[in-house]
This record gives sequence, C-alpha cells and structure tokens, in this order.
Amino acid sequence: MSHIKSYWHSTTSNTKKRKPLTNQIKTDVAIIGGGFSGLATSYFLSKSGVHTVLLEQNNIGWGASGRNAGMLTTGYKNSTENLSKKIGLDKAKELLEMSVDCINLVDQVATEENIDCSINYNGGLKLAYKQKHFESLKREHEFMLENFDYETTIIEPEFMNEEINSPLYKHGALMDPHSFAFHPLKYAVGLGDAIEKHGGFIYEQSEAQSIKKIKNGYEIITPEGKVHASEIVIATNGYSTKSIDSKLARSIIPIDSHIITTEQLPQEVANKLIPKNRVTIDTKNFLYYFRVTEDRRLLFGGRVSFAKSGSSQSNPDLFEDLKKGMIDVFPELASSKIDYQWGGTTAFTFDFMPHFGKTKKGEYYITGFCGHGAAMSTLTGKLIAKDIMERSSIMDNELAKLPLRKIPFHSQHGKILNIAESYMKLKDKLF
Ligand SMILES: Cc1cc2nc3c(=O)[nH]c(=O)nc-3n(C[C@H](O)[C@H](O)[C@H](O)COP(=O)(O)OP(=O)(O)OC[C@H]3O[C@@H](n4cnc5c(N)ncnc54)[C@H](O)[C@@H]3O)c2cc1C
Repeated sequence: MSHIKSYWHSTTSNTKKRKPLTNQIKTDVAIIGGGFSGLATSYFLSKSGVHTVLLEQNNIGWGASGRNAGMLTTGYKNSTENLSKKIGLDKAKELLEMSVDCINLVDQVATEENIDCSINYNGGLKLAYKQKHFESLKREHEFMLENFDYETTIIEPEFMNEEINSPLYKHGALMDPHSFAFHPLKYAVGLGDAIEKHGGFIYEQSEAQSIKKIKNGYEIITPEGKVHASEIVIATNGYSTKSIDSKLARSIIPIDSHIITTEQLPQEVANKLIPKNRVTIDTKNFLYYFRVTEDRRLLFGGRVSFAKSGSSQSNPDLFEDLKKGMIDVFPELASSKIDYQWGGTTAFTFDFMPHFGKTKKGEYYITGFCGHGAAMSTLTGKLIAKDIMERSSIMDNELAKLPLRKIPFHSQHGKILNIAESYMKLKDKLF
C-alpha cells in the first residue's frame, strides 16, 4: 500500500526539527513561510549579515517546495511568444534570461553551500500531445532562436523513440538543455542549514497569525510569541490566508497537484522509459509531468484540482486516475507498484506569471509561480533580499513590474472549482 509520506521525505535523512517561537524578539527582517521563496530571501540576507527571523507554520519545505517534482525548467506558463506579444520583445527577453539565470542560481547556491540535492543536468523535454501542439513548439523554437538567439532543439517525430518510449507522445518535442532535475526537499533542508550557518533564525511550528503595522516596522503574532521586524516578507504562496494579507490571498487561486512514484524499476526498464533521463512535461492543459529518480523510480505528476484545505490528498480516486494516466503514458508500468503518493498546493495568478515586489503598505511578497517556481523562487528571494539591503528599486525588474491583479471570481472554497477549471482552459486566450 502507498505511503502517506512523499518520496522526497522518505529519501531525506538530515531533516531537523526546530523549536517554535515562544518569546518576543526583534529582528531586521521577518520572513513568513519556509518554502524556497522564504528560505532564499532569508539565506541571501543572513549571508550578508542582516538579522533575519523566518517563521514557518509547519517545518521548512513542508509546502510545495518539499513536494514538487524537482524539475527546474526554463520559461513560464506562458510561451515566450505570447509574452513578447503582451509586453514587447525586449522585456520578454529579460524574462526569458531570468528563467535561465534562476536555474543557474540554484546550482550555484547548492555548490557554494555543499547542498547535496542530486542535481542531474540532462535537459528538459516539452512533449507535444497533439500535432498542432508540435507546430506551436516549432514556432516557439524558431521564435526564440530568431529573436533572442536562444537555442533549443526540436525533436522530430521519427526521433521521438530516442527520447521517450510512449504511445502517447509521437508528434515531436522541444528540448531545452538548460532545464535540469534536483531533489527539492534536500535543497530546502540545505538552505535551512545554510541560513543558520550564516546567523539567521528559523522557528518551526510558528504560524504567523496576524501582522500589524507599527512605528518603524511590523508586529507579527505567533501562537506563543511575537516578532518586531523593521521589514517583512510574505512568502506563503499557495498556502496564503486572508488573515496575513487579504489582497495577496485574493490574488491567487490555490491549485493542488499530485504525484505518484513507482517502486524501483529494473535498470533496463528505467533506461527505456526516458532514455536520456530528462525531465519532461507535456502540452495538455491539465498536463502530466514526469521523470526518473536517482534510484530508478518513475515519478509521475498531474491531476490538478482546486485546493480545498488539502483534502484532495486523501482522495484515493484522484491517485487512481493519475495511475491510469501513467499507464497510458507507459503501458509497461501497468503492474508496477506505487510506493508513494502525495499532493501539494501551488498558487496560480490571473496572468499565469509569478509576482514579487512590495505592497502599498510596504510589505514585500513573493507569490504565484503557477507550478513553475522550483527555480524562480530562489532568484526572486535574492532580488527581494537585494532590494531590502540596497534599496535597489526592485521595480526596475520586468517581472516585478507586472501588476498583481485580484482574481475577480474569488469566492468561498468549493464554489470556485468550475470557474477555476474554465479559467485554466482559457489560459492562452486570457494572456
Ligand atoms: C505537486 C507539485 C509539483 C510541482 N512541481 C514543480 C516542478 O517540477 N517544477 C517547478 O518549477 N515547480 C513545481 N511546483 C511548484 C513549486 O513547488 C512552487 O512554485 C515553489 O515551491 C513555491 O515555493 P514557495 O516558497 O513560494 O511556496 P511553498 O513552498 O508552498 O512555501 C510556503 C510556505 O509558507 C508556509 N506558511 C503559509 N502560511 C503561513 C503562516 N501564516 N505562517 C507561517 N508559515 C506559513 C507554508 O507552511 C509553506 O511551507 C510544483 C508544485 C506542486 C504542489
């Protein structure tokens, strides 16, 4: 039977439990949320000698950061061509470069801090689900080459079996050499250790229950303690609640995504599935994403649903659906045992882009990676840290300039489901 724990938890041995905050403390910067965004912000600040306190309501890496597929992929939910139409070529180029820089930054931080997070540099595949999707991928490839001198490789249908052995993906693919895979929870845990090494403080089981603007800063109340901070960074992403910042919470749709992981596969089977061991996503609206782990398991994700307080994780039908999807992709796995299954919540925004910056009230925030934040969260954390330290005008950054809009049909949990689904189907038209 499947474990409740994720594959990542089961393969991370060096997690430590940290104490909750039980007194009143003062700090330069308080960071709420111990995912990659909050951890990276705290890491870059404490490395430069800024006093930081990070509050996490569970344990660091508990959210999407410790649950994702560990696929560091370039680009955004929107194609670069779409982005260029909307914001112009120069700005789109800056955003594309950021999406490559952020992957390199993860690599750099992991190397500098000796974080052993199983990075493999084999590139990433976008698999065309339909012929017309392959035509779009070819356009995207040409567009990026002509306008940005950015090189990807088109995999023609006759070469697809060198990349993937699946009856579902025969139309072709786009390969990006910059994408790579890592072990997300080991990276989060490593960032936590690095923060403490550089003098930062982390309190776990310490939910920020409210934030009050006070003279020269903010007061944050936790169940047993209080923090006075000159600056505050909200990095609660898909787990944001209205009690912390109602505008932020209303600017995202929390979407759950789910992952199953097989038993260890014989070497010859694992090698055959994705022969070059790349990370893969497909082009469906409700996409599948999958990769082979270091110890030869297929990790297969998809099956999104509107997040209803995490309840979807205990829905067995959902994981059965995902297993059927996996068997459609790789029929030879029909009798493979599923050893792990789990889900997590990610934040979608109205324009399908990540957002970071400073609110009118002066609070910094990072949110809304739309399932694409494994690498970008580290870079946005670095940029927020830089702004706090140097007042470097974060608003010069093209990504920070994109306005974060409230989701117009935000309502009670549950009522949003069909609208959220329609919204996702409409995504290409919306942006
Ligand atoms: C199943 C799944 C698969 C994914 N796969 C990929 C992938 O392969 N590649 C990719 O690029 N992206 C992927 N993503 C998205 C990626 O994981 C996220 O974009 C990224 O981890 C966001 O990091 P974050 O720090 O902003 O948010 P999170 O990691 O969600 O962290 C937010 C944290 O805030 C804490 N928190 C919330 N409220 C409070 C409070 N009041 N007080 C204290 N703490 C609080 C939460 O407990 C949580 O730990 C996936 C997401 C999911 C769910």
